[in-house]
Amino acid sequence: MKSRLHLDKLDELLIKYLDNLIEMRNRHLYPENWEEISLAVRINANWKCQKCGKPCRKTGQTINGFLDEHHELDAIAVHSNPIRWCLTVAHLNHTPSDCSSGNLMAMCAPCHLKYDAIHHQKSRKANKRKALEKHGQLTLF
Ligand SMILES: [Zn+2]
Repeated sequence: MKSRLHLDKLDELLIKYLDNLIEMRNRHLYPENWEEISLAVRINANWKCQKCGKPCRKTGQTINGFLDEHHELDAIAVHSNPIRWCLTVAHLNHTPSDCSSGNLMAMCAPCHLKYDAIHHQKSRKANKRKALEKHGQLTLF
């Protein structure tokens, strides 16, 4: 029992650390009431990923509390990778200041990472092309 509590503490510290990291890097891009907006989106989604339908942990909910609510889940899978069960809010157009309801979607961390990765890959290619063009390379098409 003691080790399960210990794991919950570690999970929460890790989640807080990741939240703080994101917050420190990009916080100025989000509206002041982002936490309220984000919470409302996640509550409206009934704490489920709107991409894959996976249930996710509520804010502040321990892993054991989450597993008590979801007996259907594999406890080992949840304990081994708790970040996968965190519900985030994605900006569909990748503009953090645009918090219109049509632009926000509750996504589990893996779906959000996948969604953003496609965008980041396109951005990287576009930026690389712009840099090459800036240095005189002509565009072929
Ligand atoms: Zn998902």
